[in-house]
Amino acid sequence: MSFSKQSRYLDNTMISTYKECPRKYLMRHVLGWTTDGGGQKPPALVFGSSWHAGMDEMWGPGKDESIENRVDLAMEGFRKQWEEDNYTFELTMEQQDDLGARTPGTAHEMFYQYATQRDRMIRECTVLGIEQPMAMPFPGMDDTWYVGKLDKVVDYAGGIHVLEHKTTTLYRIKGNFDNDYLESWNSASQVKGYQMMGSIHYPKLQDVWVDCSLVHKKVHDAFKFIPVSHEWSLLKEWITDTQRWIGAIQSETAEYEKYGNLEAGTFRRNEDNCYGKYSKCPFLNICSTCSDPTKLKEVPAGYVEERWEPFDVLKLDKLIKGN
Ligand code: SF4
Repeated sequence: MSFSKQSRYLDNTMISTYKECPRKYLMRHVLGWTTDGGGQKPPALVFGSSWHAGMDEMWGPGKDESIENRVDLAMEGFRKQWEEDNYTFELTMEQQDDLGARTPGTAHEMFYQYATQRDRMIRECTVLGIEQPMAMPFPGMDDTWYVGKLDKVVDYAGGIHVLEHKTTTLYRIKGNFDNDYLESWNSASQVKGYQMMGSIHYPKLQDVWVDCSLVHKKVHDAFKFIPVSHEWSLLKEWITDTQRWIGAIQSETAEYEKYGNLEAGTFRRNEDNCYGKYSKCPFLNICSTCSDPTKLKEVPAGYVEERWEPFDVLKLDKLIKGN
């Protein structure tokens, strides 16, 4: 069996949305709704993807360059993504204020500190993969795949490691990073997925290094690797658990397609997550006034239809034979 565009596939974003609240999954991933940002994505998302684009330059074409050149290349990558997302590079005072720490100026300072701190590793490692799309067939499920993307795969210090770049604004005076944030990667389902997919393609994979970078107005030199390696028994459990979650998503989707509404109790709400750890759910306005959003005649005001397309976001076409 090989992966094709007709295959059924789910990524971590979709599964974690369902785990958070099945009703949220319905609105985001079945109906395809999202908040109407007037053509602009939220700053956290844009800064994160622009940082990733800079990292691709830093670990790719910039690998054997001087620190200064590496920073320039990273900034070019950052700028390209930033402008593709309709954000302006030359900010007014008011725009700077709205963006807080997430500005190109902060990114420039961070790239310089990052390139300096990671200089030896960047020079000495062999980069095996950059933005590498992955698809893993799920045992016992017909043409169903778990898909994702490994930010970097490097051979360094005698082992193969997956690097996953993450940015956070959760600052603490002691140690710069929020401790719970750092520890959370040890139990993150997403990281288990990276390790699982990485091990299939790189049998000698040692671990996943979550590459955390703090985004702060004044602190620009806080970076930390969190190495995570789970035993096979835990990865096996991750497969079984994920299989169950995927099964639940597929059966609720089939139930909705059969009845065309939620009257059978399909895609139930999880009100405990309306006010999440970092922000409130973007669908709260709908849920506060509407018991069954599938009965609405049009997309509610303040929302637009814009589907989450893992196939394009993760560039999965690279996995299809002949492409
Ligand atoms: S507002 Fe609450 S119930 Fe509604 S989708 Fe969000 S988390 Fe679920």
